[in-house]
Amino acid sequence: MSYLFPNYQRKELEMMEGFQNTLIDQNGKHYLDFTSGIGVMNLGYNDPELNQVLQDQSKRLWHTPNLYENHLQEQTAEKLAKGKEYVSYFCNSGAEANEAAIKLARKATGRSKIITFTNSFHGRTYGAMSATGQNSIHQGFEPLVPDFTYVPFNELEPLKAVVDQQTAAVMLELIQGEGGVVLADEQWVQAVQSLCHEFGALLIIDEIQTGIGRTGTFYVYENYQVEPDIFTLAKGLGNGIPVGAMLGKACLAESFGPGSHGSTFGGNKLAMSVACKVVERIDQENFLQDVQNKGHQLYTGLKQIAENNPLIRSVRGKGLMLGIELVDQDTVKSMMDQLEAEGLLVLKAGQNVLRLLPPLTITEEEVDQGLEIVEKVFNSLSQADL
Ligand SMILES: *Cc1c(COP(=O)(O)O)cnc(C)c1O
Repeated sequence: MSYLFPNYQRKELEMMEGFQNTLIDQNGKHYLDFTSGIGVMNLGYNDPELNQVLQDQSKRLWHTPNLYENHLQEQTAEKLAKGKEYVSYFCNSGAEANEAAIKLARKATGRSKIITFTNSFHGRTYGAMSATGQNSIHQGFEPLVPDFTYVPFNELEPLKAVVDQQTAAVMLELIQGEGGVVLADEQWVQAVQSLCHEFGALLIIDEIQTGIGRTGTFYVYENYQVEPDIFTLAKGLGNGIPVGAMLGKACLAESFGPGSHGSTFGGNKLAMSVACKVVERIDQENFLQDVQNKGHQLYTGLKQIAENNPLIRSVRGKGLMLGIELVDQDTVKSMMDQLEAEGLLVLKAGQNVLRLLPPLTITEEEVDQGLEIVEKVFNSLSQADL
């Protein structure tokens, strides 16, 4: 028997080692990784500089409670603010970052209603789960946290119908990741922000999957001409060391005064030493330009494959966060299995989307290799279908 809860559907596969953008399983088979461990390993596996930073810090001090100053938190927070007036709170995961965002929004506004969107994903804890607009994720866990309302993504009228003077916040992903790599329309996002301003509600952007360079800018919101009141980070922030962050405009700082919120482990020295270096490495113009170039290369290649293939409905995404929407949701699993057999790891999103989240350090050659495998598998499956 297994002594683990069966809450994950696990493959009979264990990765034992990783270097750069490659994983090696228990049989020594190599895989080109287009998952980054679900958008986490943005700088790839076994990065020498990150290894060194972690090793140095591990010999100095692992943990101090948040009863003491922490210059690593200060340094990272300053980098995350990117010259704007945002202050940070550090925690250990995405769900926790969103919990903090929800709590801050209610405390700062004195209101309780939070509006989120269908097919969103914000995490599994009670607040974050209640914010998540998917029935399947709520099932069996009711009653949820009260006063969450879900409206359709990318539509304005349903949102207008529910936003009011009792609304604390509107919370959204600008690219729904788990929901199927669905991009928010730029004008819609600006209209959402205007509605927030009109009613005194806060705009919360969940950048847990899109942030830390994933889409070719450090934050994806930089493309939308909006300024969130609060935004959240996690996945790519620690390159595999558990760490999350909630950032809010400095004017919200007093609502999270001493004693209002906290976490024992949040922002500990080991985590922050790595996060600080990750942010420094990724927030560089040439690094982000390179992500855009490789994203474009991958997107263009996928588009070409899609043109000649009846199994693919669309290709979409931004930077190195891309989705291949399939016509038939039943082909997703066999597609993933065959890609894996050919040595390429990809993720699923929504019902019928293959999601590609390669490490941002993926090389041009590796993008080409990945494309070759995708083309081969799609061609053989579409032949088999005829
Ligand atoms: C993964 C994810 C979360 C949850 O993060 P955890 O670290 O698993 O709690 C929340 N929001 C988005 C957009 C995510 O992609």
